[in-house]
Amino acid sequence: VADKLSPDRRSANMRAIKSRDTSPEMAVRRALYEMGYRYRLHTKDLPGKPDLVFHGRRKAVFVHGCFWHQHTCREGHTPASNTAYWEPKLARNTKRDRSNLADLKLLGWEVMVIWECEVDNIGDVARRLRKFLGPRG
Ligand SMILES: [Zn+2]
Repeated sequence: VADKLSPDRRSANMRAIKSRDTSPEMAVRRALYEMGYRYRLHTKDLPGKPDLVFHGRRKAVFVHGCFWHQHTCREGHTPASNTAYWEPKLARNTKRDRSNLADLKLLGWEVMVIWECEVDNIGDVARRLRKFLGPRG
């Protein structure tokens, strides 16, 4: 469906989606809050500014949009139109993601990536988060 939008319209949509707190991230935050975990948001002093940071545990979580970060799901494809614009842009994103993950690991951080499409099953995401983060407290 998205491919039927004109490039201009698509950019406008994408900007609107990116500029606010996306609902997948809010859903993840809510789940963490309900499980009793406390976190900080968008810590600027870490590579890639992870969406959720658990300093005491040295763990960080990214909630990635499938399109922007090119997930291997249906949403993560390069648009068929305006390819010359999107291809290098999306390639830069994924390259930056890889280098941020590598940098965080070098700094001794453990990282979990949650994809937008996975948040549809928030129960499953919550289970994975609990396993990743370990006991509360
Ligand atoms: Zn996805």
